[in-house]
Amino acid sequence: MAIWRRGCLPEAPERPLPKAAAGAQLQLADGRRLHRLHILSREASVKKQRVTRLSIPTKLTSLLIGCLVAGMGWAKVHRELEAGASAVLRATGRLARTGKTAAGPVWRVPTEQKVVALTFDDGPNPVYTPQVLKLAREKGIKVTFFLIGRNIQLYPELAREEAAEGHALGNHTWDHHEMPQLSRRQDMSEIERCEDEIERICGQRPHLFRPPKGAMNGNTLAAAAALGYRVVLWSVALEHHPSRTPEEMAQRVVRMARPGMIILAHDGAPPVDRSKTLRALPILVDGLQRKGYRFVTVPELLAMGDAKRS
Ligand SMILES: [Zn+2]
Repeated sequence: MAIWRRGCLPEAPERPLPKAAAGAQLQLADGRRLHRLHILSREASVKKQRVTRLSIPTKLTSLLIGCLVAGMGWAKVHRELEAGASAVLRATGRLARTGKTAAGPVWRVPTEQKVVALTFDDGPNPVYTPQVLKLAREKGIKVTFFLIGRNIQLYPELAREEAAEGHALGNHTWDHHEMPQLSRRQDMSEIERCEDEIERICGQRPHLFRPPKGAMNGNTLAAAAALGYRVVLWSVALEHHPSRTPEEMAQRVVRMARPGMIILAHDGAPPVDRSKTLRALPILVDGLQRKGYRFVTVPELLAMGDAKRS
């Protein structure tokens, strides 16, 4: 089963994807057929250039071999499409670039309103989460936390505080394993264990899921869909590695601001030092608010997109 991995770098709608990631995006679109077609057509064009210098019998043989290879490729595609998750992959395809299907991963929500969603992964964390909560209170904004189940178990009072203060909670798996390394059963278990912990501690069942590092495959999407989740990724990452200072980090995101944008940041993942993130956050919030943007939670943002479609 093919792996679709976005990692922490790509920010699909805002800048061109690296070649491999662009292929992966096409792979998702229309249930990986576009990706395969893309590859097959590139291979076909290389073959065509070579064939022009060959004799007619050789050309015919090459053509026959080409057809056989293409046929075998298609047979494999069909087998994979039929092997679980194909319906989910097909359903997700159209969204991959438009954000228009409920089943697909969401990078950004199409809306004309000047709203953005600020999201935090990998918490709760005793050092960084209280600082994020304090900033949110001071700036009067609501954010979305994608929580790791094991960290909720360690710091339940912080998860409770996030919920009590009106922030949205999402599922970021129990143990932050990269999901393509796991079986579908393990994918389900990772999601369900985190879900149970959020419900036990915060009294609410999450409906948003973000796979660790954005890495996923058909099993992941099928598991999330089967459990009633909407997969939420991001439009832009605050912790963009080449940005050296908190000012650069924040200004880069402010420059890229678009209505419906989902911003990824982290309030956890030790031993990574998130102090730069914490210093960038007030600059980011002020900068976006100066540009007329309002901060909403991911569920609020999704509702705006749904309202626009209906
Ligand atoms: Zn994470």
